Amino acid sequence: MTDIRSMTLEELSGEMRAMGQPAFRAGQIFTWLHRGAASFEEMTDLSKPLRQQLAERYTIAVPQIARKQVSQDGTIKYLWELADGACVETVLMRYHHGNTVCVSSQVGCRMGCAFCASTIGGKVRDLEPAEILDQVLFAQLDSGVKVNNIVLMGIGEPLDNLDNVLRFLELVNHPKGMNIGMRHISLSTCGLVPGIDALAERDLQLTLSVSLHAPDDETRRQIMPVDRAYDVKALFAACHRYFQRTGRRISFEYAMIDGVNDFDWQADLIAQRLRGMPGHVNLIPLNEVAESRLKPSRRLAAFQRRLEKNGVTATVRRSLGGDIDASCGQLRRKAIEEKAMEEGARTPCRSGD
Ligand code: SAH
Repeated sequence: MTDIRSMTLEELSGEMRAMGQPAFRAGQIFTWLHRGAASFEEMTDLSKPLRQQLAERYTIAVPQIARKQVSQDGTIKYLWELADGACVETVLMRYHHGNTVCVSSQVGCRMGCAFCASTIGGKVRDLEPAEILDQVLFAQLDSGVKVNNIVLMGIGEPLDNLDNVLRFLELVNHPKGMNIGMRHISLSTCGLVPGIDALAERDLQLTLSVSLHAPDDETRRQIMPVDRAYDVKALFAACHRYFQRTGRRISFEYAMIDGVNDFDWQADLIAQRLRGMPGHVNLIPLNEVAESRLKPSRRLAAFQRRLEKNGVTATVRRSLGGDIDASCGQLRRKAIEEKAMEEGARTPCRSGD
């Protein structure tokens, strides 16, 4: 059965027509769903027979909170258990410019970045549009904190699940739904070139973030297997095309790793590659992951100065939630490991390995 929360308003209207209902019913149902309705019973402005008919045709899945951690700085991290037992993480952060929720797009990830906890164990499955939406919706409902911004920077590679992500964007952006403006949404990719081109075609007003992490193939290949499929040259060509098509400035994520990607010549090379388009480099202090030997760099300020000397705007990302494993994939890993250690226990979060 389809999860009705994944359906667009247009699709719902079509369903209502097919069921012999007036078109405005679709709007009523859509509004209930996007306020977090967990059952058709709650939809009290629909007739009982209609509620029953709907319940026979559709499900409404609601994620369960498997774990919740609240940081001293107000950051809240949720580990959700989905209908099939899979788990994903969502982080709610309070910034001066508004409350931002960081959502997952897949259960696990198959991109294999050497520094990232989300990819250990590979990808289990894609998330459905409603499962991405629910992270925003139920984080807001549970916390009572109004969500202003969304970043697709949790577990998973959004451009490896593009159709569902696009549908999620349509849902969350809808005036009758959560109505979060595209300009308040960022999508982060490790650099899947065909996905960047497909996204460019949509010409959305969202911010594209590219996880660069190295401007030369030799280094990038060591830490990001995706570089073997789409090298730095191809990636920047796609970024230039994206800018040409959308006019939107791209943001480049750069996790600073000691002795790997923190040399001045790499800052110079970033500037060279960016020539001809406005770019913004976001320097991130590497979050240490237990399974990896990579260490955080101490050259953030020097690297930032070097970039700016080359005319590239660069910021250092403020780190929130350090006391609650708020970096992506860490809480899910922890839950998987703890369960694995409990002999004979049923694993609540499928690890995919
Ligand atoms: N798959 C997408 C989005 C998820 S990761 C992507 O690759 O962009 C969100 C961001 O966190 C990416 O920039 C990713 O490279 C970064 N990241 C992952 N592990 C990290 C770590 N240990 N320290 C700092 N940044 C990390």
